[in-house]
Amino acid sequence: MTGAGRGIGRECALALARAGASVTLVSRTLRDLDAVAAEIDQLGGVPTIAVADVTDPEQVREAVMVAARAGDLRICVNAAGINRPRASTELPISDWDAVIATNVRGTFLVAREVARHLLRSRRGGRIINLSSQMGSVGYPGRAAYCASKHAVNGLTKALAVEWAASGVTVNAVAPTFVRTPMTETMLDDDELHREVLRRIPAGRLGDPSEVAAAVVFLASMQAALITGAVLPVDGGWVAW
Ligand code: NAD
Repeated sequence: MTGAGRGIGRECALALARAGASVTLVSRTLRDLDAVAAEIDQLGGVPTIAVADVTDPEQVREAVMVAARAGDLRICVNAAGINRPRASTELPISDWDAVIATNVRGTFLVAREVARHLLRSRRGGRIINLSSQMGSVGYPGRAAYCASKHAVNGLTKALAVEWAASGVTVNAVAPTFVRTPMTETMLDDDELHREVLRRIPAGRLGDPSEVAAAVVFLASMQAALITGAVLPVDGGWVAW
């Protein structure tokens, strides 16, 4: 479980632990991971921690080894992600590179390393990538983020068809705006908040627990035949 230290990743880790999974928490910040591990302890779960930057192949390899040693590695959730909103004409190319590296390269590196393990084990598995409604539509000031999430959707479909015969499903969950450390300063802007609500037919933001519920479903036995799907959790944003 990457990006497990806070926000949507934290919520997914807790939901998977409640569903009975032994979760390996992966992120860059040990302090955040310790806090989530303590919450899972309280639920009676068995958390493991691996500090890693998902853009670094060696750190990813080590984190996946930690997860494999901790238990029966069958589910991978890629929630590590960043956004650097800015008018495209002003966007530093370093921000473009950071967003693409984390959201696309990082997702690929983790999915590939976990799949190597799953394919060797011949027992199938589940890979679930955090995309976004912005993987299907555009939004001003989000060129890098939209490009990265469109890429995550394409990556999800390509890996799904490549590994389907081995029983490894690859799907994406595509939330609308959810209040997390990533979005709280954006949503504190009243004008942006109003504009976002205007675009969500359901008339409200998402809750991290609603995203986690979709992830738990895609990780379940009941979702065995679902692969290559991008599941919107967006109150109808992309259906409008
Ligand atoms: P967040 O910023 O609150 O948390 C992101 C987590 O990812 C943090 O724990 C951070 O340390 C980790 N992370 C970032 N870069 C990393 C790296 N290189 N290596 C390892 N860990 C790294 O973000 P969030 O809002 O919880 O978003 C989680 C995912 O959901 C992201 O992929 C995001 O794009 C996606 N998403 C979020 C929203 C939203 O409104 N919050 C909407 C749609 C999609």
